Amino acid sequence: MHPIAKADRLYVWHPFTQMRDWAKKEPIIIAGGKGSLLFDIHGKEYLDANSSIWTNIHGHNHPKINAAINRQLQQVAHTSALGLANVPASLLAAELVDAANPPDLNASSRVSSPALPQGHRLKNPLLSKVFYSDDGSTATEVALKLAYEFSRRTRPESKPRFLSLSGAYHGDTIGAVSMGHIDLFHKAYDGLLFKTDQVRAPYCYRCPSNKAAPERADARTYRQCRNECLDDVEMKLDRQARRKTPYAAFMFEPVMQGAAGMIAQPQGYLRQVAGMARSHGTLLIADEVMTGFGRTGFREGVAPSLFASHQEGVQPDFLCLAKAMTGGYLPMAATLTTRTVFDQFLGKYEDFKTFFHGHSFTGNQLGAAASLASMELLRSTPVQNRRIQLQRVMSDELASLWSLPNVGDIRQEGLVAGIELVKDWRTRTPFDLSQRAGLKVCEEMASRGILTRPIGSILVLMPPYCTTPSQLRQMVTVMGEAIQKVLKR
Ligand SMILES: *Cc1c(COP(=O)(O)O)cnc(C)c1O
Repeated sequence: MHPIAKADRLYVWHPFTQMRDWAKKEPIIIAGGKGSLLFDIHGKEYLDANSSIWTNIHGHNHPKINAAINRQLQQVAHTSALGLANVPASLLAAELVDAANPPDLNASSRVSSPALPQGHRLKNPLLSKVFYSDDGSTATEVALKLAYEFSRRTRPESKPRFLSLSGAYHGDTIGAVSMGHIDLFHKAYDGLLFKTDQVRAPYCYRCPSNKAAPERADARTYRQCRNECLDDVEMKLDRQARRKTPYAAFMFEPVMQGAAGMIAQPQGYLRQVAGMARSHGTLLIADEVMTGFGRTGFREGVAPSLFASHQEGVQPDFLCLAKAMTGGYLPMAATLTTRTVFDQFLGKYEDFKTFFHGHSFTGNQLGAAASLASMELLRSTPVQNRRIQLQRVMSDELASLWSLPNVGDIRQEGLVAGIELVKDWRTRTPFDLSQRAGLKVCEEMASRGILTRPIGSILVLMPPYCTTPSQLRQMVTVMGEAIQKVLKR
């Protein structure tokens, strides 16, 4: 066994991993990367088909991001944001506010200037304050604490309560887990969690109200949908309002729920539930940890934005960002919020209205420098054109998988897709988790040089934006071959 593998086996406890299975095989040890390619210590090449767990967007070893980090490294790597400001974190906050407030969604800009040119700094952006942290979990945790405290201060008569979607995943810290609804991950910690309510997510393929005949075409069109999942949201919001304690906040992953199994929401869904929540005085927390920074691509007829909420015309009160924020280079996160929320934390020192929360590496310079470089790349025309092309190639290529009997559903939003494996597409019968259908297919793919990780029986395809059409074709072809090899009777 390779000495590195030996050290790993002896000492490293891997996340979300059954370590007994792990010990049975020699792990792939990554030693380098370039663009969408990764190399292991033996020089074997792989394509990074899930962007290193949904983080990387411009590829590995990108010369511009490397240079930005190197430049910052010559100055200073880290100083504390407690009591000190720093250069890249300040610049980045302005960039994030700029990107998070498209003029057409910014109420105050609409009044004064309906047609601001792109990139123009808005006078009164709605999401105007940036609270930095380190990971997706801390970004949602910060939003949760802010919403809780905001609600306590503005509605002192009621205890704040929260609503989220079934299957929600908002991270692994205790607050984030409380907002989550994936029993497999969360059940064990029940005793540690606070109670939150859930509404039925629009998982159309497995919708209990979907009475459509199980034919292929219907898997996509859901002709008999009567929006029962929207009724559930309205009902829960109403019920809570009748108790005179409207929900403090509704937390959601917009457009596509990630860890739930790449559950794509029908167009218009988010706009409607956001409207309902708002009309009940409930704040909106958009968890764009997975969807942010262009992952959900472009929609026809909708102004381009880097954030999925905006594709649905929704401007949340909190925007949680992480994963791709630094281009997928370094752990850094942000929670953006409004002046209204911010102002509730202002007061005399001795009023102690301060937001007592923060981490050692808040506002880290290296992360901020990487993120500034990533933002610049995202704005550049070649990168935008490449994303448009890749989104198209991806849907063309994925269409070839519909013919496989074990492919039940294919859900794509921009540059992310979930491919749901079933025993038979006619019956939609799911595999038992214990059959490890997804894991086995991914292992087969890895042996053929394509790296991704399943969510149960759902395969994830989420390439870095620099992936070439032929690399993407390779990812999908190998996925199809692996499905056939592993799942054929
Ligand atoms: C990954 C993820 C998180 C958690 O982020 P970490 O950086 O892993 O803590 C939260 N929300 C969503 C939607 C995610 O995909």
